[in-house]
Amino acid sequence: MRDAGIRVTAPRRAIVRVLEEAGDHLDVEEITERARALDPSVHRATVYRTLGLLKGLGLVDELDLLHLEGDRHFYEVRRETEHAHVICLTCRRVLELSGHVMAELRADLEQETGFAVKFLRMEVGGACPDCAGRARRAAADQA
Ligand SMILES: [Zn+2]
Ligand SMILES: [Zn+2]
Repeated sequence: MRDAGIRVTAPRRAIVRVLEEAGDHLDVEEITERARALDPSVHRATVYRTLGLLKGLGLVDELDLLHLEGDRHFYEVRRETEHAHVICLTCRRVLELSGHVMAELRADLEQETGFAVKFLRMEVGGACPDCAGRARRAAADQA
């Protein structure tokens, strides 16, 4: 942020810290709550404005995670590595996938399109192994 000439105030610092330390995807409410624990002067409006700035700088991505949670949007720090959100449409679990599958996809995309891919994020919907197994057992019980 400082590189972009943006003043790093205490509330902004708290918001950035929350995003950096979050292990998963947070919405505005969760970010506000956690940032307030670090700096009580953080307001939801500050969170919205700061997220807008960070998105504009390409530092943070906004996700809808297939709209399974309605209009709730989620935020995460943009990573250099390609990653996919593999989302269970039944229990709403979100798995983060990176590594060779995604690296291969990047290479294939670059070959196919001629683009130098800067970042790659993908969302996939399906049934997780637990939910798929439950559905199979339920179908078997009915047969
Ligand atoms: Zn599931
Ligand atoms: Zn993610």
